[in-house]
Amino acid sequence: MAERKTFFVEVLLPLALNKSFTYRVPFELNEHVKPGIRVVVPFGKAKLFTGLITKVHEDVPSYQAKYIEHVLDENPIITGNQFKLWNWIADYYMAPLGDVMNAALPSNFKLASETKIILHPEFNKNILDRLDDREYQIYEALEIQEELDLKEISEIVGIKTIQPIINKLIGYKVLLTKEELRHKFTPKTALFIRLTDEYAQQDKLEAYLQELSDAKGKDKQLQAILTYLKLGGLKGNKAEFILRKRLESEGASVSSLNTLEKNGVLFSDRLEISRLGEADDETKQRKALSEDQQRALDEVRTSFTDKDVCLLHGVTGSGKTEIYVELIQEQLDAGKQVLFLLPEIALTTQLINRLSAYFGDLVGVYHSKFNQNERVEIWNALLNNNPTKFRIILGARSSLFLPFRDLGLIIIDEEHESSFKQYDPSPRYNARDSAIVLGALHKTKVLLGSATPAFETYFNAQEGKFGLVELNKRFGDVQMPEILTANLKKEKIQKTMNMHFSSFLVQHMEEALQNGEQIILFQNRRGYNPIWNCEICGWTPKCKNCDVSLTYHKHGNALKCHYCSYYAAPMGSCPKCSSNRLKMVGFGTEKIEDDLSVLFPKAKVQRLDLDTTRQKNSYSEIISNFENREIDILVGTQMVTKGLDFDNVSLVGILDADLMLNRADFRAFERSYHLMSQVAGRAGRKSKRGKVIIQTHDVDHWVIRHVIEHDYNGFYKNEIMERKNYLYPPFYKIINFTLKHRKEQDLEAMAADFGRRLYNVFGSRILGPEAPAIKRIQNNYIQVVKLKMEREASPKKVKAKITEIIDKFYSEPMHKSVRINIDVDPM
Ligand code: ADP
Ligand code: ZN
Ligand code: ZN
Repeated sequence: MAERKTFFVEVLLPLALNKSFTYRVPFELNEHVKPGIRVVVPFGKAKLFTGLITKVHEDVPSYQAKYIEHVLDENPIITGNQFKLWNWIADYYMAPLGDVMNAALPSNFKLASETKIILHPEFNKNILDRLDDREYQIYEALEIQEELDLKEISEIVGIKTIQPIINKLIGYKVLLTKEELRHKFTPKTALFIRLTDEYAQQDKLEAYLQELSDAKGKDKQLQAILTYLKLGGLKGNKAEFILRKRLESEGASVSSLNTLEKNGVLFSDRLEISRLGEADDETKQRKALSEDQQRALDEVRTSFTDKDVCLLHGVTGSGKTEIYVELIQEQLDAGKQVLFLLPEIALTTQLINRLSAYFGDLVGVYHSKFNQNERVEIWNALLNNNPTKFRIILGARSSLFLPFRDLGLIIIDEEHESSFKQYDPSPRYNARDSAIVLGALHKTKVLLGSATPAFETYFNAQEGKFGLVELNKRFGDVQMPEILTANLKKEKIQKTMNMHFSSFLVQHMEEALQNGEQIILFQNRRGYNPIWNCEICGWTPKCKNCDVSLTYHKHGNALKCHYCSYYAAPMGSCPKCSSNRLKMVGFGTEKIEDDLSVLFPKAKVQRLDLDTTRQKNSYSEIISNFENREIDILVGTQMVTKGLDFDNVSLVGILDADLMLNRADFRAFERSYHLMSQVAGRAGRKSKRGKVIIQTHDVDHWVIRHVIEHDYNGFYKNEIMERKNYLYPPFYKIINFTLKHRKEQDLEAMAADFGRRLYNVFGSRILGPEAPAIKRIQNNYIQVVKLKMEREASPKKVKAKITEIIDKFYSEPMHKSVRINIDVDPM
């Protein structure tokens, strides 16, 4: 017998801890431990956790190491490059590696000891024949017990490596985690059709085809059956289901299919189809590029010969997507994978449809709203470098963490979007910047696309760090929209305002509606009226947990806090002075929707904001209703600004430009420019020149002037000087330290102390502490200390210093109860 070695493993746990823990390997698992596989280990007070082995070694630790309980995988579930990316993110964003792991792994991979396994509600008994003894044992146990945890399952089958079995059973749809059940369980189905068993017989079918071809007026039925056969419907005597839509698109007429079904020749059934990709769509031919697009594409390729990152700066409607499509095809031809990052997946139904139309099943969509099984399915396909599935990943920021094996290109569309940055929970990473690092790890080129690039990105392009390709014309020579201002100051004096609408805007809206054209209205606020205000004493209702005014939501007739779940019933009179003169000030999307029903009683109005899109598919429903022209006026928050392509929108109204411009934030102008240009870009994308009306009190504001002229460069040149003069990004890097505590005075004292310690090292680069505009959220008071450091400073040294200061600070017992969040490159 071979000598029995004693192994130890380093295990990373999905907890906010910066180190791994050493565990001892029981002899029987010696063969099974490898870096990158998951294990279940005891941690803390008799709790079990799923962790990841980062290292196997024989160094005996100085303390009594606990044993690992089970091994969950046969093979590593993460790659070396993934682990490098995790480490980079943890270092750069000063986040615990355990937090990064938590963000990176789909939750099915983090099955904790508490995870309950149950029988799949739609499980098909026929599958039982295919189970081996152990698998059957688990099934049987669940028939009796209803739910089991991993440990119980492990005891039932008597082995420690149970995850492969569980995964297999989950794959067979015999098992499900209880968590998964909680997500609504609605399989996507489609209508399929096949020959009935009777007509699937060779002789019978031949005779019938003869009959149809001899008869008069049965050509279409004949055609329908031939189409079915052409698509491989009959294998020997066995009739296979074919997607009905596919038959129709290949020339089988709807009426003939119906007749054949009625006559007992065909049989149809609703079957479940994969929710991933659009298996039911035939792929489309790619569009021929315009001369301008072709030039841009060539320039991108040239830029990639000596630069790793290239910015494609193309105005809205210039056809950037078609250029991406060419580059994607090139990678597929070379057998490579492509990552296509989007700021928010919910907002990009249109793009999913466009890409799946070209690439069909090769497109995998990955984001947190997706159900866990689908996420694991994509993960595994990539891990195994499956050559026929999910070669293109379309995803929000978390898709960065997938196990790419052969990545050929990363595309980051709408790269300027601040939602690429995650704030809560930690890690507070920027997916765009992390993707550039991912590109470097894979030696893969990165293409950034935007009509209004982020300042950091444009700066890098100007400096020659990134390549720069410009596309200044819209596709098909569609003109850029005409941008006009509505002078609110003047209209208020002349009393021509109607609620929040200028007569100028109303007049243009009437015109558009008369022409049967659609309108988008943009207001950067949801809810009905931001606040109530007592006309006599100025009192406004506040959240009891946060330092913010409550917002009135007509739907549900409640005053709600947008920062916590607190809500209150609207009051009839002022609790402070008892007057009943409570007035609404300001206006949100819900209020606008209401006003519109008064102004344009015949128009169909729909709101698009967080409140109307909470459900998984509500966003795409609203968008497709708008596409189908079932809606005349779409009112929305930022959501309406993003990457949408409609062909009948002739007018866009920006209801309150001042609200954006007057924000106290160094990015206020950049953001305002982005938002106004992006939403303007939704107007007149096809034949007719679109119109945009900006309502403002300051028609001469320099930012608005640049928006009107479509002059990004001019805007950039002006604003970048301000950034330089006031020591802001991209010239300086910012790190925010947010301290939170329940007691205001204690917090102020601790923040002052913490700030002083930083000041002693970094001097005047430290600003604050200061209470932010909202100084209390969910019963925690907040203080912020800011570090502004020169771009050239060594981030490693700076961060090492910070870590030292924070560790010291926390080591002092009186600081245990304060929380410090670190945000590197805040947005
Ligand atoms: P962007 O992403 O730059 O805003 P899109 O890629 O959405 O622009 O293109 C704008 C519109 O022009 C879309 O409706 C698109 O289908 C169309 N388009 C772009 N390029 C072509 C092309 N080469 N041939 C035909 N239509 C195109
Ligand atoms: Zn009052
Ligand atoms: Zn609140």
